Amino acid sequence: MTNRKRLLFLSLIVTGYLIIILAVVGTGSVASRNAQELGTITQEIYAHPFAVSHAASHLKAAFLQEQNSILQMVLVRSSKQTRAARAAEIAAIDQEIQVNLQVIRENFLGDMSKVDELESNFQQWVVIRARIFEMVERGDFVAAQNLTRREGTAKFNQIAELYEYVQEYAQDKAKRYADASIVTTENIVHQTNLWLTSLIFVVVITAVIVFWRVLGLQNELRQQATIDFLTGVPNRRYFMEIAERELKRSQRYGNPFALAVIDLDLFKSVNDTYGHSVGDKVLKRFCELCKAALRDTDTFGRIGGEEFAILLPDTELAKAQEVMERIRNNIELAVTEAEQGVTLKFTASFGLTTSEIENVQLLTLFRFADEALYAAKNSGRNRVCIYQVQPH
Ligand code: GH3
Ligand code: MG
Ligand code: MG
Repeated sequence: MTNRKRLLFLSLIVTGYLIIILAVVGTGSVASRNAQELGTITQEIYAHPFAVSHAASHLKAAFLQEQNSILQMVLVRSSKQTRAARAAEIAAIDQEIQVNLQVIRENFLGDMSKVDELESNFQQWVVIRARIFEMVERGDFVAAQNLTRREGTAKFNQIAELYEYVQEYAQDKAKRYADASIVTTENIVHQTNLWLTSLIFVVVITAVIVFWRVLGLQNELRQQATIDFLTGVPNRRYFMEIAERELKRSQRYGNPFALAVIDLDLFKSVNDTYGHSVGDKVLKRFCELCKAALRDTDTFGRIGGEEFAILLPDTELAKAQEVMERIRNNIELAVTEAEQGVTLKFTASFGLTTSEIENVQLLTLFRFADEALYAAKNSGRNRVCIYQVQPH
């Protein structure tokens, strides 16, 4: 893998993980922001009206209690001692009324003039109450009863009316809270889902990219290990692997294959005359010529510097010789451009053998093919020689 590719791959991974981190942080912050929002809604829409409603019902109950207490006092014509106890009781109730009025004043978010009215009603009631006490002190119980009934009931009704108003207000706010919280909850679920979906999407994309790159890398490595860099044909190791497999198959099924070892003739002089890069060009041209004459099922590989091998499965020696002869001829006829305006020709020698020999080893087959090649070289090059099995 080149440095540029490695850098690209690395930056892809880093970007992928940055996006994942961003998505996680984003999901978290969206969730916490929504939770905060819900909290604020609870506080503003629910907590205040709830406090007001609670205080209002206490207020109503306290006033009712006070009114009853006074009514009892005037009805039973109570003694001085009982009256003192009642007065203390009423003072305590007053205290409670003041506390609840304060709560309403602090939390009520509706029409404040209603709260003012509520307070002034109490102040008016306190004045009336003082008059009732005066009457009781004078022993005018009938007048005190009448005043308590008339004014007490009237004030209670006014207070109850105001109580209804704040209570309704609180209920309305509570309903708005319920509606808003449903919408907010839906929003939270929706936004979180959106973030989660993007998170999953990014994770999947990153995983796919990584998987794809790893596969690519694996392929590249396998290619490097099996393919010759210059010519793009199987290297020695890979060729041997295939040949070994082919030999086993041939021995099991009895189908012979042919093996040829080819060496370029006087290749050193090509390098010496035209330079190493022209030599490389000739090697590539040689490979093209060989491959063009072979079947897909044949295997062609580079087993040394300018040495190659061909394996022809399910092929009789005579047929293989024909094919090799054709290749040799094609090479001989081929004109290769060494450099601009300069052409060259080259030839190759072939040593051919067959796997038809009983229980033969691969290295032995190669030795036979090499021997045939040696014979081809010795007998003038540019020819195909066959290894002759020595009769026992
Ligand atoms: P012969 O006909 O007897 O085979 O003669 P030759 O010159 O081909 O034989 P020799 O083994 O002396 O020379 C082989 C040369 O092939 C030597 C080496 O520099 C060259 N060679 C091997 N690999 C490469 C390669 O990858 N590129 C180039 N340009 N030359 C190579
Ligand atoms: Mg050689
Ligand atoms: Mg040679």
